[in-house]
Amino acid sequence: MRYLGYAGQQITPELEERMDLMCDLCNEVAHPASVSCTYDAADLPLELPGKSIAEHLANAQEVVLFAATLGHGVDRELRRLSATDPLGQVLFDAAATAAIEREANRLEAQVRAQAAERGLFCSWRFSPGYGDLPLSVQPDLLRTLNATRRLGITLTPSNLMVPTKSVTAIVGVHPTPQPGLASSCAVCELAEFCALRSRGMRCGAQPTERGTPL
Ligand code: SF4
Repeated sequence: MRYLGYAGQQITPELEERMDLMCDLCNEVAHPASVSCTYDAADLPLELPGKSIAEHLANAQEVVLFAATLGHGVDRELRRLSATDPLGQVLFDAAATAAIEREANRLEAQVRAQAAERGLFCSWRFSPGYGDLPLSVQPDLLRTLNATRRLGITLTPSNLMVPTKSVTAIVGVHPTPQPGLASSCAVCELAEFCALRSRGMRCGAQPTERGTPL
């Protein structure tokens, strides 16, 4: 609904049914896959230009890079729908965008949980194109992760990823809590995948006096 620009409009039962069908179709043709690598911040094998990412990773001791994709089947379906069913294409495209964001949330939750278990704290995931980190970093990022061979992700001449429903991201792992995360687990988009809450832990919190993270 978010990626359709929903703002409280009335949804007819017919439209709701089509949305459900397109979500089902997306789940059928998507094959989520991902790769990630963790590096010492002082030993990062690629240059990340710009002030925004420098601020984002300031004082990070490690940097996690990851790439995820839904695969080529989703693009094939988008092309098919664009020729046969324009409404279906719009609904399917929104479902696929939600699906790749969900996959990125799953990966980020995993990175945060692993950091928290070591008493470390993550910054939120940052992708090329945010702030002044240019898309021109994508070739190096994909090469570093070997993402073309491992996931089949390639780039257009303007550095857009193919399959289109793919993401790359950069997460800093820091010795101190980082700003900009969800203010509470109740509003956190990663909650569905979070392995911390069930253990009474919180990704952005310092250990309490009793030594048990909040
Ligand atoms: S649900 Fe809570 S602990 Fe888990 S990632 Fe989100 S904010 Fe962190």
